[in-house]
Amino acid sequence: MTTPPSTLDTLGRPVRDLRISVTDRCNFRCVYCMPKEVFGRGYRFMDRKELLSFEEIERLAGAFVVHGVEKLRITGGEPLLRRDLDVLIERLVGLGNLDVALTTNGALLPQKAGSLVAAGLERVTVSLDSLDDDTFRSMNDVGFPVTRVLDGIDAAAAAGLKVKINAVVKRGVNDDQVVALARHFQGTGHILRFIEYMDVGATNGWRLDDVVPAAEIVSLISAELPLEPAEENYRGEVARRFRYADGSGEIGVIASVTQPFCGDCTRSRISAEGRLYTCLFATKGHDLRALVRGGADDAEIHATIGRIGGRRTDRYSEERSSRTAELPRVEMSYIGG
Ligand code: SAM
Ligand code: SF4
Ligand code: SF4
Repeated sequence: MTTPPSTLDTLGRPVRDLRISVTDRCNFRCVYCMPKEVFGRGYRFMDRKELLSFEEIERLAGAFVVHGVEKLRITGGEPLLRRDLDVLIERLVGLGNLDVALTTNGALLPQKAGSLVAAGLERVTVSLDSLDDDTFRSMNDVGFPVTRVLDGIDAAAAAGLKVKINAVVKRGVNDDQVVALARHFQGTGHILRFIEYMDVGATNGWRLDDVVPAAEIVSLISAELPLEPAEENYRGEVARRFRYADGSGEIGVIASVTQPFCGDCTRSRISAEGRLYTCLFATKGHDLRALVRGGADDAEIHATIGRIGGRRTDRYSEERSSRTAELPRVEMSYIGG
């Protein structure tokens, strides 16, 4: 079969970055992502047979690679809850010439970092919103101690993984942790990135007042640990980079709410049950699992991915302020961030 060309969407954007959710389950109940009131005992998570198998994930990922995807991000829910995840990582790394990384809450890294590295994983992003134990426990809402995530970060680094740290900042909840987090990771080589709290999903009760703008985060840090802007690593990098003036490293801020970057958005997402979403705020996905399980051949899969990519018009964050009607949206734990 001839290789299809990399498809550009209606705004001239290719797809370069594919996020694959491997489970909708999580061992945390972060208040901004899976609030307990919604994701409680009665919540129906996907059955195992509904999840894409490793073979199906590998096949779809391979098709996206043909369409120009260069980065794969394994996410969830909590991806380390998926049994034998290292086997999937090994298969995806085996697709070749790809930057494969994992986004995790870090809780299971002490047990799993070694096998992930053995499978060929090189990078991990660990979500950590606070160093203060009480704040951290109340944000993850299952009372998980911060020291165990810090142990997970250490285990990942000791196993040879490059580590990034993601912190979502919510006004009045953990904005007092911004400088502490910066100090803690300064000079460690782990890049810390602050993410504006986003209005994903429909369950977290998001309000604009809860968002701490990236510019404010940078000023808070810079007042104590002087920062200067750094250049983009590549076009379309979503995190704005700042380096410490004393040369002790860098931080990033992801200003999805206050400075949206849809014009450069080259991401797509596949949910754990195989639906393709071309935007974090998409209202409905395209059922790739039905295609794969229905016996589609490679040409059909390629054509479908190309067609969906070519029709993509998403620019939700840029349009956010002009939206008045609330549309139904998928949850972050379903689509993977
Ligand atoms: N469980 C893994 C973790 O927490 O890293 C992976 C999945 S989680 C959905 C991926 C990322 O989305 C995490 O860094 C999390 O902090 C972020 N996230 C979840 N809800 C968010 C929200 N409302 N606004 C901004 N980021 C959010
Ligand atoms: Fe779980 Fe990650 Fe969502 Fe927290 S942010 S509830 S760890 S999926
Ligand atoms: Fe991309 Fe949608 Fe986010 Fe815009 S709102 S940056 S199109 S995922």
